[in-house]
Amino acid sequence: MKIVVCVKQVPDTSEVRIDPITGTMIREGVKSIINPDDLSGLEAALRIKDVYKAEVIALSMGPMQADNALRECLAMGVDQAILLSDRKFAGADTWATSLSLSKAIEKINPDLIIAGRQAIDGDTAQVGPQIAEHLNIPSVAYVNEIKVKDENSLVVKRMFEDGYQSILVKTPCLLTVLKEINSVRYMRVAKIYNSYKDGLVEVWDNEVLKLDPHELGLKGSPTKVKKSYTKGVKTAGKVFEVDSKEEAAKIIIDKMKENYIL
Ligand code: FAD
Repeated sequence: MKIVVCVKQVPDTSEVRIDPITGTMIREGVKSIINPDDLSGLEAALRIKDVYKAEVIALSMGPMQADNALRECLAMGVDQAILLSDRKFAGADTWATSLSLSKAIEKINPDLIIAGRQAIDGDTAQVGPQIAEHLNIPSVAYVNEIKVKDENSLVVKRMFEDGYQSILVKTPCLLTVLKEINSVRYMRVAKIYNSYKDGLVEVWDNEVLKLDPHELGLKGSPTKVKKSYTKGVKTAGKVFEVDSKEEAAKIIIDKMKENYIL
């Protein structure tokens, strides 16, 4: 089984700053991490690899600094890491991002694609299902458990607020996974050393993907950000001096009842 895991490098904060002129995200000066849902996606793929003979490929689209995220994936145990990076990809919205990712996935030809449910910066939860649409394969979102049934099918469990749904899905397919699906393993010390040797992350530009330049980056993005702002706090907060946790809990409950929240 060949598994591609889509990994996005995101700023280590949910407070995304937007350039007021271009409407695009400002990444400079912000520490980057692997999107938490994607780490769980990686772990899910590696657990399949632990039991079956699977090959796991981490795929990311982003600037060259996303190379760091992919080296972390190598240190966790993936077999191959591919970074889609080209100036032509810059400014891509979810449509252009998912198109470029799907073109790369088509070249890799995997049985299973795992994406995170949602990225903590863009927050749209669109990229996974859009990749499946571009590839014309089934997709299942909100996955919280993956079981390999046989060579060509999986049984996956979707988690909702009020219950679960079990689905039998044929491969090739795409799953978007929730952070709660597992606890992520640590990187292996020996692999950390190896992952920082040169040449382990393959970089693919549009010479490799061969997409029409009009379908890439800002040019290929139908979404336009008109305006973005941070909602201000409207009323001043009130401070209560309390002596115990119980007293604090009682005040909170009373206030919630007063405001018909409880
Ligand atoms: P979601 O759809 O929430 O992500 C779900 C999952 O998809 C992730 O967990 C991950 O598994 C996968 N995934 C998502 N993105 C990637 C990726 N890049 N590589 C691998 N897997 C991925 N962002 C910038 O950084 N720079 C820009 O210049 C920029 N310009 C933009 C311009 C416009 C007009 C718009 C609308 C957005 C722009 N963005 C830009 C944001 C960018 O479109 C999104 O960050 C990106 O498309 C992913 O969407 P999301 O963050 O909502 O991911």
